[in-house]
Amino acid sequence: MSTLMNHQYRLAARPLGLPKDSDWQYGSEPVRELQDGEILVKVLYLSLDPAMRGWMNDSKSYIRPVDLGAVMRAGGIGRVIASKSPKFAEGDIVSGGVGVQEYWIGAADDKHGSFFKIDARLATLPAWLNALGMPGMTAYFGLLDVGQPKAGETVLVSGAAGAVGQTVGQVAKQLGCRVVGIAGGPDKCKFVVEELGFDACIDYKNGSVKDGLKQHCPQGVDVYFDNVGGDILDVVLTRINMKARIVICGAISQYNNTTPVKGPANYLSLLVNRARMEGIVVFDYAPRYPEAVRQIGQWMAQGAFKSREDVVQGLENFPQALLMLFEGKNFGKLVLQVAPE
Ligand code: NAP
Repeated sequence: MSTLMNHQYRLAARPLGLPKDSDWQYGSEPVRELQDGEILVKVLYLSLDPAMRGWMNDSKSYIRPVDLGAVMRAGGIGRVIASKSPKFAEGDIVSGGVGVQEYWIGAADDKHGSFFKIDARLATLPAWLNALGMPGMTAYFGLLDVGQPKAGETVLVSGAAGAVGQTVGQVAKQLGCRVVGIAGGPDKCKFVVEELGFDACIDYKNGSVKDGLKQHCPQGVDVYFDNVGGDILDVVLTRINMKARIVICGAISQYNNTTPVKGPANYLSLLVNRARMEGIVVFDYAPRYPEAVRQIGQWMAQGAFKSREDVVQGLENFPQALLMLFEGKNFGKLVLQVAPE
């Protein structure tokens, strides 16, 4: 009989607005015995993502909502500590859908877990949840496949210092674009320009985005990679170029609304400029992830690409840590460390 206890966060209620402590149920249960074909994963790091807020709603989306009473869905990285599967050996470091808990147990080829081994020599484990993980894949394929930037074009990205934004900007720089970020506060803007090599950054919390666009995108915007939606999207629509591409990646400014989502009032600019807006869901690109990991990994190895994470400690801090995303308190990809490496 196993003596391991597994602490978990389950979804207790569907939130209205920002998630509250009472929307979660923190509990524990013993880890059951391993069956043939299964693996037991000790969770080391959890990826905290804005999308988690959407998964808590009972509404139709690109993925099923988390059921009430179920362990909260989360991607993460862990160590295989027991295996009865030929696919994984004890000691393997794996990435997959572990959930907000200390241990994941199940079939190695479980479609919810869908684990793959990661190479810890290539990058740190948190970076495997960032530039080499889901946000990096989102940025890479969203920008290249949907945004289709060309050298010399102006690429604008909101949420620029965050997980997706930092990779969008760095990939666009590699392609020879002029890259402008939008981020909240002087420290994030400084990081984006001085550390990541963006050409400029607009601090939307301390100035007008409209003025910033006039100053930093004098030739207009060819590609806008939108992570935030709302008012910023509306202003950007007034500065797009002919045949501009707007990548709808997310709209974090709208996720905790208790009123209807604010759609773009200035959408007729798409008509005037023969421009388009197109959504992206990263999971559609799963078969091509190795291609992006290879390319970004190569840039990282050359010292030409950075991956910044904000690591918060302790599973018990999950509810408060998640809120950091919606308050702009994370500086880089938000990761929760559940156990020491
Ligand atoms: P992130 O940027 O690391 O963190 C969220 C950031 O959003 C915050 O740090 C904050 O930065 C900004 N923010 C929060 N509230 C805001 C508001 N009201 N207005 C403007 N900015 C606000 O998060 P991420 O993981 O990279 O995700 C970025 C976006 O991509 C999200 O919308 C997410 O849902 C989306 N996404 C989509 C896919 C997909 O497949 N479509 C996959 C992954 C992520 P500041 O301090 O700069 O305000």
